[in-house]
Amino acid sequence: MTDRYLELVNSGLTKKLAAQLGLPRPAVLRRHRPGQPLLDGPALVLGTGADADAVATLLSSPAGGVAPTGDAPAVLDGWDLEVHRHATPDVRYAAVVLVLTDVTHPDDLQGPVLAAGSVLKGLRAGGRVVTVSRPAGADDAPAVAAARQGVDGLLRSLAKELRGGATGNGVVVADGVPVTAPSVVGALRFFLSTRSAFVDGQLLEVDSDAGELPTDWDRPLAGKVAVVTGAARGIGAAIADVLARDGATVVAVDVPAAGEQLAQVANRVRGTALQLDVTAPDAGERILAHATARHGRLDVVVHNAGITRDKLLANMGEDRWASVLAVNVASQLRINEALLTSGDFTDAPRIVSLASTSGIAGNRGQTNYAASKGGVIGMVRATAPLLVPFGGTANAVAPGFVETEMTARIPALTRQVARRLNSLQQGGQPVDVAEAIAFLASPAAGGVVGRTLRVCGQNLVGR
Ligand code: NAD
Repeated sequence: MTDRYLELVNSGLTKKLAAQLGLPRPAVLRRHRPGQPLLDGPALVLGTGADADAVATLLSSPAGGVAPTGDAPAVLDGWDLEVHRHATPDVRYAAVVLVLTDVTHPDDLQGPVLAAGSVLKGLRAGGRVVTVSRPAGADDAPAVAAARQGVDGLLRSLAKELRGGATGNGVVVADGVPVTAPSVVGALRFFLSTRSAFVDGQLLEVDSDAGELPTDWDRPLAGKVAVVTGAARGIGAAIADVLARDGATVVAVDVPAAGEQLAQVANRVRGTALQLDVTAPDAGERILAHATARHGRLDVVVHNAGITRDKLLANMGEDRWASVLAVNVASQLRINEALLTSGDFTDAPRIVSLASTSGIAGNRGQTNYAASKGGVIGMVRATAPLLVPFGGTANAVAPGFVETEMTARIPALTRQVARRLNSLQQGGQPVDVAEAIAFLASPAAGGVVGRTLRVCGQNLVGR
């Protein structure tokens, strides 16, 4: 689906006119292409202490393993970027990384945060600001918790101030997990890269040091077999494309009625198609049987199939309620149970589910849909611990407004408003959701356990 307004305000005469009229001008976001450099300019790493040193070493060292420096934990990778440790206001940075893991009082925020502020006017188009911090817990000293929670507030506000397609996100690293843990490194890279083009104002928790870094960051899913449900079109088709691009063999699943489109997707990604209604009682068994018979294994399941049947609750019939709950969440529960009890989904498996910002912030006319999507968020939280003994994870991605056939059905005016109501002032593309899913499906995300990552351009509704 195209966003005509975004095209107009970024081209030719209409671009000039929009500037003269002071109209909002959403930026054209840069998306990932394999082989692209991670950043197109220098990175500024702010913060004191061993963790900031370790992050700076990670960013600046050449690939292939770096020994510990001083108190800094060992870095197992290197990204060969130009890294500055002090803000130079006339340098145009591509990224600012604020390492705030050692703050113990709100006063500690001022130095690094204002230093970051001093370079923001020169931040490049599509620039990145990423915080690395620790979670504020009830067991922390009050001043520590205040400082840590302060990072949350400042990051979300800063993200709302950035322009030109720049984003602000954070990695929240559980106490005891080093900043060089695979999932911290993986999340940091995801947030710095163009893969996270439509992720904004989000803080992703890393719960453990599980996971593995890829040998090739462009093919993190090499050797993996992934099932994607609802893959015939929209976000599901984009997920199939991105997982295949990242090296996975893809099984594309959709209802028989979508068989032709499904076959096209499966052919395009050189995978296989499985015509299946995910609400079938034996859907889990059939998915596993297909993946193992055709491809020898199953590593990743992406529960993407979903439907909307919107109505105000006062007018909601049983059919609308039941069908949405059945497709969007009950099918996932049933498939997961079949996989978990099969004994054949135990080699660092990954489950990634599609939630929605409606399940977080609520949406008028969507009590059924929001119940199902809120349900998904609860489901992954409770499923993830069951997978930890196998090195597995279950997580969710919650898209905001994404340009697909589902959202094309929204009345024109509502759609126009809905797609502007976020910090990036535009709807996301299916590929943006797919990139987040590919990250959570990757070996590097093994320490992200039961979390929901929003891909919503920092929707103005909800957290
Ligand atoms: P879409 O309607 O374009 O595609 C959904 C696909 O799922 C279709 O190919 C459909 O045939 C398939 N499907 C539906 N029921 C199925 C079933 N019982 N068994 C197998 N396949 C089935 O939707 P989309 O916009 O691409 O959304 C994909 C997912 O993302 C959904 O879970 C949706 O709730 C979620 N989501 C979308 C948005 C958005 O803005 N588009 C926002 C938040 C969440």
